[in-house]
Amino acid sequence: AKPTVIIIGRPNVGKSTLFNRLVGKKLALVDDQPGVTRDRRLGDAEIAGLQFTVVDTAGWEDEDELTLPGRMRKQTEASLEGADAAMFVVDARAGLTPLDNEIARYLREHDVPIVLVANKAEGKSGESGVLEAYSLGFGEPVAVSAEHGEGIADLFGGLWPII
Ligand code: GDP
Ligand code: MG
Repeated sequence: AKPTVIIIGRPNVGKSTLFNRLVGKKLALVDDQPGVTRDRRLGDAEIAGLQFTVVDTAGWEDEDELTLPGRMRKQTEASLEGADAAMFVVDARAGLTPLDNEIARYLREHDVPIVLVANKAEGKSGESGVLEAYSLGFGEPVAVSAEHGEGIADLFGGLWPII
């Protein structure tokens, strides 16, 4: 069966934009307001012949920035259950936040293989954020711009060894 790759990250890092970019359709709602994506959305993705089901999530939204309350944990846990890998998305422009580190700690407690994705990396203003993302401990971040369609093919190198 096709592998499943879940997109995880704090609100507003560009998860739904990445999902739409991978699926090629406007299936996920993208909005400047955090919390717009209400449930998980599944779509068919392909990068250089590598086919997988991609899942957009919003489980970390509408919650206290510094805690991991049960509802969010449950939703993410349910999504991680069926996942062969997760793309952990951070915002290269905004830099890391406490919630990014909290999610990183959470993901380390699970067995799911992680591809770290530094989104919004177009132009120079994303450079320091991409470097900062190394500190999360998931190896080299894949720098992409979901909005501008840059670096998407580079996700292949992160995904193919693990799915
Ligand atoms: P989500 O909450 O993680 O699903 O984030 P969204 O996909 O809804 O995007 C949040 C905001 O970031 C929107 O205003 C997007 O247009 C913007 N965004 C997404 N990807 C990029 C990108 O590659 N570069 C820039 N500059 N903005 C982006
Ligand atoms: Mg979203």
